[in-house]
Amino acid sequence: MTVSEFEISRDWTTDRRGPGRWILSHVSRHKLFVAGMLLGAVGNAALAAAMPLFVGQAVDAVTTSPPDLRALTIAAALVAASQLVRGLVLQLLRNWSSEVLGQRLERDIRDELYASLIGKSMSFHDQQPTGDLMARATNDVRQINLMFNPGVNLVIGSANFLLMPLIVAPSIHPQLVIAPFLYLLAYAVSVRDYLRQLRPATERVRHVFGEMNTTLAEAIDGIETVKGAAQEDFESRRFAEGVTSWRDAYVRQGDIEARFIPLLLLGLVQGLGFFHSLLLFRAGAIGLDNVIAFNGLLLLLGFPTFAAQFAYSRVASGFASARRILELITYETELDQNVSGYEASMEGRVAFENVAFCYNAPGEACDPGDEQVVLQDVSFRVRPGQTVAIVGQTGSGKSTVAKLISRIYDVDGGRVLIDGIDVRHWNLDALRHQVSTIEQDIFLFSRSIEENIAFGCPDADRHDVIQAARAAQAHQFITSFEHGYDTVIGERGATLSGGQAQRLAIARAFLTRPAILILDDATSAIDSETEDRIQRAIEQAARGRTTFLITHRLSQIRWADLIVVMRRGEVAAVGTHDELMEESPVYRNIFARYES
Ligand code: ADP
Ligand code: MG
Repeated sequence: MTVSEFEISRDWTTDRRGPGRWILSHVSRHKLFVAGMLLGAVGNAALAAAMPLFVGQAVDAVTTSPPDLRALTIAAALVAASQLVRGLVLQLLRNWSSEVLGQRLERDIRDELYASLIGKSMSFHDQQPTGDLMARATNDVRQINLMFNPGVNLVIGSANFLLMPLIVAPSIHPQLVIAPFLYLLAYAVSVRDYLRQLRPATERVRHVFGEMNTTLAEAIDGIETVKGAAQEDFESRRFAEGVTSWRDAYVRQGDIEARFIPLLLLGLVQGLGFFHSLLLFRAGAIGLDNVIAFNGLLLLLGFPTFAAQFAYSRVASGFASARRILELITYETELDQNVSGYEASMEGRVAFENVAFCYNAPGEACDPGDEQVVLQDVSFRVRPGQTVAIVGQTGSGKSTVAKLISRIYDVDGGRVLIDGIDVRHWNLDALRHQVSTIEQDIFLFSRSIEENIAFGCPDADRHDVIQAARAAQAHQFITSFEHGYDTVIGERGATLSGGQAQRLAIARAFLTRPAILILDDATSAIDSETEDRIQRAIEQAARGRTTFLITHRLSQIRWADLIVVMRRGEVAAVGTHDELMEESPVYRNIFARYES
């Protein structure tokens, strides 16, 4: 199984065997910034640890009699210099590196995810709610950025603060390693526990956010339906429920964060360390300056403790998001690009041989007799250049037949042949470039009219576009707009009428010159004034290529070379108008109904 029908090529790949490896493989592309982050973090912590030692020296200098002013000045200068270097060089290096790393990861992952989504098959997109997809593509990707800055940045930065007292304290007195060591142990155990509790909570937050986004996307996408049925109240209540469960999930995560044990342990360890150093002082093993230096060192533990609570939850959220993004990227599809497949200029011969099909998830079986069977035992043959009308009631499977030709979906049984070659053996790119479909619901991008017509044919220049628009009877209305071909279309073609959108789509087809053209109910949205024009455009478009017309228009049906009558997913009859009028009661029936 492959994970996409089209691979969009990149000069890098990632390890997709698990979220951890995946993130690492992204990170490893930016080694320089990782090095900067580590260097900055280690240096920063080292200089922070040096500070209490300098302070200890200063105390030593003022408590000897007479006070050693020279030593005091040196200690003060060292404090100032070390903290300047820390602030101006090391912290800057650490924060800058992790910020750049976070942004680059976000960019790369967006890029990888987008390429992967674009390449997925229709059966994948059928099953993925847009809102959840968008949540993953935006919010979850963002979480990975935050995972590194401030998340990993703080984890690495503060981990060094955890280690420094352990390394430096023994140089004061070997026994002083006890308190920081105990703390490190307790810290490790409780962070492990914390992460284990945090994981399901963060996953829940991400998941609920995706659901909330789905509700929102559906309400906006279906706003006409919502308003038409006066369901604004219901929908907004549904959304409020989504928001509430998102909040609850967040509060639950906050609960766990609040019960972060090391905060309590920190106080205990600092008390213990203070007591221990005083005991050593009383025994004469260390001086007062050492007591101050050591307790200063223990203060360093505060940073990892406070930072960890927040930093680890960023890391846990990032991990949950990585898992969700990877889930999309690695989702398997049945279709594949078939790069080594058959590639040739199409003549336009089409044959269906006992085709069976149902809309189901990849890998799911489709047994004959099942309820979800959409097509069954569909067979017909079309010669190059013929115009074929597919007729039948709504839901009889006409559009599905069209989608099997361009391999938007794959058959579950039988074969679809183009020029005698199974469509599954065609190179998918070659196949789709030569089969062009104009759907009932025409999608126009919020780009200029010219770009919309040239979609699928980016090399076309203005001259080609105008020629295509003329042939599609669209030139006239386009030039009537103030900005002509540069008019930017509102989303979903809002500023164009149905008929105008149809003609843009037909112009698109003229440009791409497909060997097989499929018009799915393409004239249903058209008023009678433009019908004539459309009719002429279609006739011109159908010339010299195999054309499928899925239509209710009698004029078009009558004029077809071949008529395929569909009924409940099966072919009820095939023939010319005259033949069918004579032989097929189903056809006569449909014909009579259309006429009325
Ligand atoms: P027609 O174009 O003749 O109206 P379709 O081919 O669109 O019929 O649909 C045939 C059947 O398949 C219908 O029962 C419809 O509900 C179902 N169907 C269509 N598209 C999908 C889809 N993407 N997922 C699941 N079922 C679908
Ligand atoms: Mg249809």
